[in-house]
Amino acid sequence: MTLLKNSRPVVAIIGGGFTGSAVAWNLTRAIPNHEVQIVVHEPRKNLGAGLAYDTSDPTHRINVPAERMSLDADDGGDFMAWLAERSVEQTDPEAQLPDGRIFPRRADFGAYVAARLKPMILDGRIQHARCEVVAIERDASCWRIRRSDGTTLLADSVVIATSHPSPAAPRTLAALLEGHPRFVADPTAANALATIRPGNDVLIVGNGLTGADIAASLLARGHTGHITAISRRGLRSRGHAFGTQEPHGDFISRPIKSARLLTRRIRETIKQAALFDVSWHAVLDAVRAQGQAIWRNLPIAERRRIVRHLRPFWDVHRFRIAPQVENAIDAAIGAGQMESLAASVSAVSYFGDKIRVAMRLSRRKGTVLRDIDAVVVATGPAHGSVLSSQPYLDGLAGAGHIRLDPVGLGLDCDQRSRLIGANGEVQPGLFVAGPLARGAFGELMGLPQVTLHARDVAFEVKSDVAPHAIARTETAA
Ligand SMILES: Cc1cc2nc3c(=O)[nH]c(=O)nc-3n(C[C@H](O)[C@H](O)[C@H](O)COP(=O)(O)OP(=O)(O)OC[C@H]3O[C@@H](n4cnc5c(N)ncnc54)[C@H](O)[C@@H]3O)c2cc1C
Repeated sequence: MTLLKNSRPVVAIIGGGFTGSAVAWNLTRAIPNHEVQIVVHEPRKNLGAGLAYDTSDPTHRINVPAERMSLDADDGGDFMAWLAERSVEQTDPEAQLPDGRIFPRRADFGAYVAARLKPMILDGRIQHARCEVVAIERDASCWRIRRSDGTTLLADSVVIATSHPSPAAPRTLAALLEGHPRFVADPTAANALATIRPGNDVLIVGNGLTGADIAASLLARGHTGHITAISRRGLRSRGHAFGTQEPHGDFISRPIKSARLLTRRIRETIKQAALFDVSWHAVLDAVRAQGQAIWRNLPIAERRRIVRHLRPFWDVHRFRIAPQVENAIDAAIGAGQMESLAASVSAVSYFGDKIRVAMRLSRRKGTVLRDIDAVVVATGPAHGSVLSSQPYLDGLAGAGHIRLDPVGLGLDCDQRSRLIGANGEVQPGLFVAGPLARGAFGELMGLPQVTLHARDVAFEVKSDVAPHAIARTETAA
């Protein structure tokens, strides 16, 4: 009994950033001999880069050391091996720190993933459909994928991996500045900062990793204007500890059932770690590594509490800026060229050629005015409104096949990453991979966790398509 070539089960992956590509790559290993047709839908030129690594800006660096980034969940050193083959120390001398850790350019990580996928694309195990998916509809036991090039594809299993929606600009700003040449509502768009002149005074709204990237890019281009970066709490993404530390702390053996207890345990562990000269970074790394088990132990109400109250603090400690970026920003702050405020925009108006922004300082410290030339929104992807972020998700939600997870971080799914519809039931053959599954898994944003998740989803998809393969084999025999 042999499979007919055109009767193989079809797996459609929507989004070919790191996550979608990693699911495809793992599937080719889990299902050998071309037994399934794997189609990755991705409008970008190369698979593997996505929003995070599809950047030619040399100041954009990975924010965890290269030794912790790998496509292969079973070989954590794969990216390091790829870098060594290419002598990164010569092509990018700033990548390596004096302590030996390497923070390469994000573009290099994208190139690495693309290189690992290339053989599978060349031999047809993975097809790159260079288009957007505009609709997904149920069609008997299959899913009909409608694509922006006008074609459709019938798929047995679908994996949603479109992760990061565009940021949503604060309404006060958008209402006045929409259409202004130096209002950058989506800094991830190609050449987003091109209209900002070196002498412009710039306001960056958001002080996390995206804000740091923007500041570093401007400074590297020789920016001379003043830069004000704001966030509600005035929190800034932290840097890395010096040297390498092992994760420190156990947050699982005694299950933690509340946000309050989690905070207390983290504080206690940080204090105790300091006695052994271990910094908070190692404790937060342990929380991150154990994050999915911690999340599973927490009731939904406590998960919500964490998202509402602790997330801003968690984000700035857990998403750390690359040391090269941190140095550039610290130097600009030290020289008085850049300031970081705990504030939110309360009013915007025009003042001659300038944009006048009134900002309410946090903790009732009053209001400050700044006359600026450019505003960049760096509030990060708007995951809370993911269902309305694009037509295919809107359509799936409208038909009841998907819904927002109860915590509001992405799409509702079970522990096998199967999507849950409006009626609370698992949708056959419909999966989610990567950051959009965070509601169920908790910590699932950084690459180490996404790598593991992609492998798990590939395993689930393999079980899902197996009955289709058997049925078609029997039909073909
Ligand atoms: C700017 C940025 C930098 C980051 N840097 C790091 C880092 O250095 N280290 C780290 O550990 N983590 C980092 N992260 C975290 C990041 O979540 C993961 O590392 C990982 O890259 C997520 O990839 P993804 O494929 O899930 O998402 P994305 O990168 O968002 O990829 C989704 C892809 O889906 C495509 N797509 C969207 N809609 C459609 C559609 N309708 N049809 C077809 N395709 C579609 C998009 O074109 C995109 O390429 C970063 C995140 C961002 C946003």
